[in-house]
Amino acid sequence: MSLFPAGAKQPPVGTDPELLNRLSSVLPRNALLIGDAIDARYREDRRGKYSAPPRFVMRPGSTEEVSACLAACNDFAQPLVVHGGRTGLSGGHRIVEGEAVLSLERMMALDEVHGQSATIMASAGTPLQTVQEAADRAGFLFGVDIGSRGTATIGGNIATNAGGIRVLRYGMFRAQVAGLETVLADGTILSSLRGLDKDNTGYDLNQLFVGSEGTLGVVTRARLRLHPKPFSEANAFLAVPSLEAALQLLRRLQETLGPSLSAYELMYPEAYEGVVAFLGMPRPLGTEASLYVLAEVQALRDDVPVETFASCLMQALEDGVALDAVVSQSPREFQALWTMRDSCADFVRSRAHVVGCDISVPTHRIAEFLEAARTALRAIDPSIEFIVFGHLGDGNLHYVIRTPKGEEAAEKAYRLVAEHGGSISAEHGIGFDKKPWLHLCRSQAEIAAMRGLKTALDPKAILNRGRVFD
Ligand SMILES: Cc1cc2nc3c(=O)[nH]c(=O)nc-3n(C[C@H](O)[C@H](O)[C@H](O)COP(=O)(O)OP(=O)(O)OC[C@H]3O[C@@H](n4cnc5c(N)ncnc54)[C@H](O)[C@@H]3O)c2cc1C
Repeated sequence: MSLFPAGAKQPPVGTDPELLNRLSSVLPRNALLIGDAIDARYREDRRGKYSAPPRFVMRPGSTEEVSACLAACNDFAQPLVVHGGRTGLSGGHRIVEGEAVLSLERMMALDEVHGQSATIMASAGTPLQTVQEAADRAGFLFGVDIGSRGTATIGGNIATNAGGIRVLRYGMFRAQVAGLETVLADGTILSSLRGLDKDNTGYDLNQLFVGSEGTLGVVTRARLRLHPKPFSEANAFLAVPSLEAALQLLRRLQETLGPSLSAYELMYPEAYEGVVAFLGMPRPLGTEASLYVLAEVQALRDDVPVETFASCLMQALEDGVALDAVVSQSPREFQALWTMRDSCADFVRSRAHVVGCDISVPTHRIAEFLEAARTALRAIDPSIEFIVFGHLGDGNLHYVIRTPKGEEAAEKAYRLVAEHGGSISAEHGIGFDKKPWLHLCRSQAEIAAMRGLKTALDPKAILNRGRVFD
């Protein structure tokens, strides 16, 4: 007797009916989608590239169901791609012909905050914002924030080692993971959720999965670290005369405020003016400058107070390190400045012929890199436009170029990034889109070691095949 889900008259081409029968027996009825039942959203891609229709979609609701799905797919050598919120920007979740989808969208359980250990346990499909809000309600702060917080999931954040605006203070997602549960390609469940600060019993397998882009295992649950909620916070938007001045101001703020400096973002005029026009908002600063900075301070009770932040900025204005500044005076003003910064990505997406390069360069070499790249890219297309913004505090630039010769220009930019000691992917991973340039930043020996790990954990290469490397 066929156990196919309702609506599916026959198995999709190339799919063994026995595999579908097995999946039907381990998943509830609405958790295996075939044919017309598959919603178009599974093919969404933020970069607008072609995503093939999936052979079928699995929507497990528990770690055990994930395990049963993977064991079945592994037995039938059925390749699959793991889906979180599909906000990834390197094409990792894009579906290739013949692949099935394993979506974590039904796994959204979130435990109460554990106050004593300052952690929270979240299932992989929980949106980041849900975790942030739960932490806030319990009097804590979750350290990572990114523009896609409402849709991006904890599993996707871990798989891509997401960064965002407060890496300066709290580190990348890697630093937030106190414990992890993962399922290997053959269905084996690895559960290490105790969240011990000290545990030197052999290899740290949890960290192996952080940033592995779904190629080594499927993240199902995580114990996440929380931080004390700031007693007060403020941000300021500044016009600065040069990149050198912006870096000098960064050093001054770090020396004075220590870890209280929680974000230090940069916007070149094309980004600032573009996003202000895009949002139709009044310019926070009238002064025109060659560079703008958004700095944020988060003060704990015993920390350096927010007033020190303001006086440090006053001093910078007096010394000519900054040309103009506005410090937020209310939560509304604070949020308006962040909305402007957050909206840069949407502004960029509204333009034609854009290629966004998510790169990092050692801060002391950023000026040199920008100069070299401007010259080299103008040689490719004299009318090329640059929209540059990003997280200056950690050297991560969103280096966006506008040109019909996007591929050639991006290739050149990535080569120059590597020559300046940088990384071709600071936050978004490699996925499909950056695979051709991985070799610029990683040696053959490193890539061979990565392949060795992949083969050991997923010998049939069913998980996210062809992402990161071939
Ligand atoms: C407006 C906007 C702003 C952004 N800002 C930032 C930013 O500041 N910093 C930053 O780092 N990123 C940013 N991103 C990129 C993106 O949001 C992150 O990469 C995010 O972590 C992806 O989460 P997701 O749930 O959407 O994952 P998906 O896009 O669904 O997947 C991303 C990758 O992870 C894999 N994956 C997903 N879930 C799992 C799982 N449970 N187990 C194993 N593998 C899995 C997928 O197969 C894929 O390879 C931004 C994106 C947008 C659209």
